[in-house]
Amino acid sequence: MKLQSGQKLVVASHNKGKVREINELINPYGLNAISAGELGLPEPIEDGDSFAANAIIKAVAAANAAGIPALADDSGLEVHGLDGAPGIYSARWGGEKGDFNLAMNRVNDELLAKGFNDERQRTANFTCALALAFPQDADQKEPLVFEGKVFGSLVWPLRGEHGFGYDPMFVAKGEILTFGEMDQTRKHEMSHRANAFALFKKACLV
Ligand code: IMP
Repeated sequence: MKLQSGQKLVVASHNKGKVREINELINPYGLNAISAGELGLPEPIEDGDSFAANAIIKAVAAANAAGIPALADDSGLEVHGLDGAPGIYSARWGGEKGDFNLAMNRVNDELLAKGFNDERQRTANFTCALALAFPQDADQKEPLVFEGKVFGSLVWPLRGEHGFGYDPMFVAKGEILTFGEMDQTRKHEMSHRANAFALFKKACLV
């Protein structure tokens, strides 16, 4: 299933940081992307039990509402010492105001409460599921899902002003800078979203 240059596509997210990153990834392929926020589409309830299930919920809702294919991302931070939390609840740990200082403090406090001070005890990964769904009248009925991960560890205190969400506490394996300190072009070379995007690109872009 290939998307041709000029194809209209909804980026099914209301998260400005994600919409910006997804646009940066798909712009070189000539897709005509518009965000769910710009179209005023309602946000569906994300009650799936995995990143992939939630990405599908968002992509299907947007594709049906807009009548064109929709690409959705569901992503989050999985902290190994916290049994994978916050995981699919990563956005919710920021509270109603999306305060990720609060969320990162909670991650750090919960690690410290377990005595996890050492880098080897503070490993984590980001996961990104990208789902591409099609409107009901399209030939392709089933949504496609592509999943990417990036592994690393969590530092404290926070470092860096770039990126979004949990970026200031995440250092990818083999790197020194956090995703919050890193040039964003460099983040796009190695991030969970970039890895998921590479699979999407191989399957769907020309
Ligand atoms: P959702 O996929 O909209 O439910 O939310 C995912 C949440 O995971 C975001 O609000 C961020 O807090 C976090 N997250 C996902 N990707 C990244 C990233 O690239 N950097 C930092 N945080 C991220």
